[in-house]
Amino acid sequence: MGTLVEVKVVSDDPNVAYRAIENAFERMREIEDLMTAKRPGSLVERIGRDAVERAMKIPDELFAVIETCQRYAMLTQGAFDISVAPVTRLWLFDRPMETIPSEEDVRNALEFVGFQGIRLDQKTGSIQLERKGMGLDLGGGAKGYAVDEAVHRLKELGIKAGIVNAGGDLKVFGIKPGRIPWNIGIQDPQHSDRIMGSIMLTDRALVTSGDYERFIVYEGIKYHHIIDPKTGWPARGCKSVSIECHRAFDADILSTAIFVLGPEKGMALLERLPGVEGMIVDASGGIYVSSGWKDKLKLHRSPVP
Ligand code: ADP
Ligand code: MG
Repeated sequence: MGTLVEVKVVSDDPNVAYRAIENAFERMREIEDLMTAKRPGSLVERIGRDAVERAMKIPDELFAVIETCQRYAMLTQGAFDISVAPVTRLWLFDRPMETIPSEEDVRNALEFVGFQGIRLDQKTGSIQLERKGMGLDLGGGAKGYAVDEAVHRLKELGIKAGIVNAGGDLKVFGIKPGRIPWNIGIQDPQHSDRIMGSIMLTDRALVTSGDYERFIVYEGIKYHHIIDPKTGWPARGCKSVSIECHRAFDADILSTAIFVLGPEKGMALLERLPGVEGMIVDASGGIYVSSGWKDKLKLHRSPVP
């Protein structure tokens, strides 16, 4: 998943702990295999190739993941859109890029973006894409989903407390020895070595999407990996969005979606969703905190009045 994953568990028995951790990593590897489009021959890549002329039966797990993504695409009016693949494919953040895609490349790719073109058939558990040239990119939710599943596996193996952290996308469960809740720091998007705030959590997920994770600077302008499906270019309204909710999968999707929506629309959505809290840092560094976080979040600098 292109990130460092850390699993910590609390247990009286080191053997139980190690076995559980191994299992959690195995489960995450399974999910990476299931959801990646980068590996040639992967299931998601094959959907882009083979699910156009006729519908393609896919595993129930992948079907459910895509179904959730489609639900969020509707909720966010396409700010979150897994069909953004033709555009994200134009960027290679893993390697040095000499130049950025041309306006024309982006315009052409955008022709094939639109979540309405993804058809799911519940009866047969199959998927079909409306047009050749479309494709799926599950990168906006995959890490969160993997974190939830890893936690699930740890619990199945008898672990009562722990944390799974995929590069800042994390879920904590149970209480640490000494009855201390987990205290989670939130990275400052403008100073990657600094924490801008912290929050005490139990049995919750906290996910951050930022413009500092994957990007290139070209002619003095920063181009990052969160794409506004309306323009085809990196979304410009935010520097980072942190979301707390029960499932890391939902938090991951929402952090990406709200990043695209920008601070005003993003905060409005955040306030509308029950059980979801969070914080937005806008393009000029202004901080917006959701009402449920006002008393919970310890900020090291002050929010926008
Ligand atoms: P990170 O993976 O760094 O934590 P995100 O969770 O915000 O960051 O996911 C960004 C990834 O999501 C991109 O690398 C890309 O694969 C995918 N993506 C980019 N823009 C969108 C979008 N508008 N909707 C859905 N997925 C997106
Ligand atoms: Mg995300």
